[in-house]
Amino acid sequence: MITKIILEEKISAVFKLINSANNIVITAHKGPDGDAVGSSLGLYHFLYTLEKKATVVLPDAPSESLNCLPSFDSILTLEKNEEEVKQIISECDLLFCLDFNKLDRLGTLAPLIEGVTCPKILVDHHLNYDNFADVIISHPEIASTSELVFRLICRMGYFSEMNLQTAESICAGMLTDTGGLAYNSNHPEIYTIISELLKKGVDKDALYRKLFNSYSESRMRLMGYFLCEKLTIIPEYQTAIFSFTKEELERFNYKKGDTEGFVNMPLSISGIRCSIFCREDNDKIKISMRSVGDYSVNDLANRTFGGGGHKNAAGAESKLTMKETIEKIIEELGK
Ligand code: MN
Repeated sequence: MITKIILEEKISAVFKLINSANNIVITAHKGPDGDAVGSSLGLYHFLYTLEKKATVVLPDAPSESLNCLPSFDSILTLEKNEEEVKQIISECDLLFCLDFNKLDRLGTLAPLIEGVTCPKILVDHHLNYDNFADVIISHPEIASTSELVFRLICRMGYFSEMNLQTAESICAGMLTDTGGLAYNSNHPEIYTIISELLKKGVDKDALYRKLFNSYSESRMRLMGYFLCEKLTIIPEYQTAIFSFTKEELERFNYKKGDTEGFVNMPLSISGIRCSIFCREDNDKIKISMRSVGDYSVNDLANRTFGGGGHKNAAGAESKLTMKETIEKIIEELGK
């Protein structure tokens, strides 16, 4: 039995909105990860079982490692399908916002979504959401948005109709946001849900291999470079920090998603409680932070560059140079 964490009134509000909608758009944060894509495709396949037309619209392309997910190719991005995306958004009569807490997490898609007048439903697990949706299902204590989508479908009474595509997508999101059930995964009900997904026919082991062990040779060489040449340990702060410039990434034939998971690796060093990764992007430095135990990188991301996320996994963006960005973080660590 799974605890009813989502309020009954929210379940019935979502159910009513789905029933009266005909053109549903599902969106998720930029730089879409396994949970953003898994929750979106999970909901997408579920809505199709209800014979509702739905489209997944993302700001930019997800990592190619997610192309094993059912209907991955149906996803539209503003980056690639601008005209079609604008058209679909202008016609939508219900909007699901998944796996993000603030509209600016949509990047270039934000102004379009902000202009939408139809009802919006937010389903998310990040701290401190902005109040931009008509129905807000926000549960930071839950490990993934995909798990929330599972709970939502069950509570609406459609567990038995859940098909394999929905189950696989949800399972992928639950696996990726917990590093394959390695962190943020102590809640017993996660395993009750995984068990139900297995009964739906999901091959979790195969899915795990496709999600976590399907990288390129150049990604592995980039990893080698990071571990040998780039990793800095600051013992007094029990922190690991590393960075890549654009030039370095290009040298290793960098493709989107290639550095995914790197930031978690230094946490496997005994005594390290915090890991920080800075990556040069077009006009900014993207910062990922991870921690173990009580140390809050949500606070660190917020204090340094106004970012955030979860206690043990957060992100931020810096407009400073790489050197200045790293100096500012180290200075803050010492406070
Ligand atoms: Mn997530």
